[in-house]
Amino acid sequence: MQEVDAIVIGAGFAGLRALHTLRGQGKRVLVLEASDGLGGVWYHNQYPGARCDVESYDYSYSFSPELEQDWRWSERYATQPEILRYINHVADRFDLRKDIVLNARMTEARYDEQAARWTITAEGGRQWSAHYFVMCVGQLSTTKTPDYPGQSGFKGRIIHSAVWPRNETIDFTGKRVAIIGTGSSGMQMTPVIARQAAHLTVFQRTPNFSVPASNAPVSDEEDRQVKAHYRERRERAWNSPTGLGFAVNRQSALEVSPEEREKVYEAAWHRLGFGFALAYHDILINAEANETAAEFIRRKIASVIDKPELREKLVPRGHHFAARRPSVDSGYFQAFNQDNVELAYVKESPIVEFTPEGIRTTAKLHAFDVIIFATGFDAFTGSLFKPSIVGRSGITLRQKWEDGPVTQLGVSVSDFPNMLIVVGPGSPSLLSNVMVSIEEQIDWLAALIKTMDAQGIVEFEAEPEAERAWVAHVNERARETLYLTTDSYYNGAEVKGKARVFMPYSGGVRGYRRHLRECAEQGYSGFALRKTPAARAAKAEAPQAV
Ligand code: NAP
Repeated sequence: MQEVDAIVIGAGFAGLRALHTLRGQGKRVLVLEASDGLGGVWYHNQYPGARCDVESYDYSYSFSPELEQDWRWSERYATQPEILRYINHVADRFDLRKDIVLNARMTEARYDEQAARWTITAEGGRQWSAHYFVMCVGQLSTTKTPDYPGQSGFKGRIIHSAVWPRNETIDFTGKRVAIIGTGSSGMQMTPVIARQAAHLTVFQRTPNFSVPASNAPVSDEEDRQVKAHYRERRERAWNSPTGLGFAVNRQSALEVSPEEREKVYEAAWHRLGFGFALAYHDILINAEANETAAEFIRRKIASVIDKPELREKLVPRGHHFAARRPSVDSGYFQAFNQDNVELAYVKESPIVEFTPEGIRTTAKLHAFDVIIFATGFDAFTGSLFKPSIVGRSGITLRQKWEDGPVTQLGVSVSDFPNMLIVVGPGSPSLLSNVMVSIEEQIDWLAALIKTMDAQGIVEFEAEPEAERAWVAHVNERARETLYLTTDSYYNGAEVKGKARVFMPYSGGVRGYRRHLRECAEQGYSGFALRKTPAARAAKAEAPQAV
């Protein structure tokens, strides 16, 4: 069995950063990646129209000023192929590939309490032993696919947006296509497929809020400007609520005149994309303030939909703006003005079954050649529960989190010493520009390991009391927001039977950063740091049999 200092699971943005940083500290690091390529979600989500909804300059690594200066983003919001090129460039530039094992799906991680080491097993039985175990598996990588009666008998092709076929260009020309789901993925792919397909039917369950991407090529002058002031931009992102690089309006939406508000919303609509939710500081915390934004967006959406009967169905109602993840689109609503695009509103006419020809709803039989599930993910915990992660005394992470995730600072779990979860539950993760959160947590872990090395510490472990306090804090911050007012993947509603708890930390990137910093400054408060593994110390102290 190969022995290393750290095993990192997943070769997406987080895994590559962990490898580079820990290796830079002199550690022997190995990354295990289940698939045959680098990039994580950006490798798998190759659906037409896939692009990031955080601006390219912010959705990129900040650890290397040379990389920042050399890489030239071509668009404000990078497409999936461009992001994948960037990831591969980073892997080559920092010579990461030699420490990445592809096609190695971890099936089990088991903590050896006496040795304070993890044994990692991959499919096929290969094993590694590591002092540190770093889970970088993302929050949106375990897909969710409905199982309708008759689904397996459909004669055409079924594809999930997040497991898009690679090494194959799917041509929708002349095809009758269905997209089920209208989250970010469904909304991004709709206008692109609508331009190709003979007929496209979009199955909508919940109309989603969306703000236009206002995407554009990046001019040389813009590129020069950003690069001349990149540090300041990063500082703004690190000290912002969500890790986006623009200044946040500290005013309340309710303390300005309707005319002024309209002007602010109009400007945000054309420029901020996802950041529209920050046009006023109380949009996410005050229902009345939120309604001013929601009403503006509804009006904007309605104004681009030609058919009045479709307008009624597509305009989002019944939940607060951004209480579930809004989308950032490029012509989604306008696509419904095309004659070849149809809306199937499943709340009015539910899907009854799949037939060999297509989908039968209570209203009619739709015939299709291709059906695309854009039905999302088992978010946050899906990929953490897939392998068996076995901590102290044989307890699994799944057992530990039966009633919902419990963490200290969103990074560590008691009974699972020397394990770190990057951008997992209890951290800003999906409520932030995830790149900011990834780098923050990995730098924090790197500093912890440095301290451990300097002090001869072999085991770190979250303290249960600190975990209880952190979970209470996460819940308290969530209660201050509007996130709990509706069902969403933020609170476990996306999968039947899943623990219904609020998963991410809504206290903001800046606030979270402060917690991590204070914890380190206080000698890693809330963590036990041990020079001898707890189990070995307990054994030494136990009375000897005579
Ligand atoms: P999602 O946001 O979870 O959306 C899934 C969609 O499928 C929802 O509209 C959902 O309806 C619908 N759905 C699920 N099961 C269904 C069923 N049985 N019948 C009919 N409809 C069903 O998933 P996603 O669009 O893949 O996006 C997930 C997340 O990935 C996003 O929120 C975002 O964080 C990230 N993402 C980001 C980008 C980007 O950066 N641009 C792009 C894509 C995705 P309900 O709403 O009624 O549940």
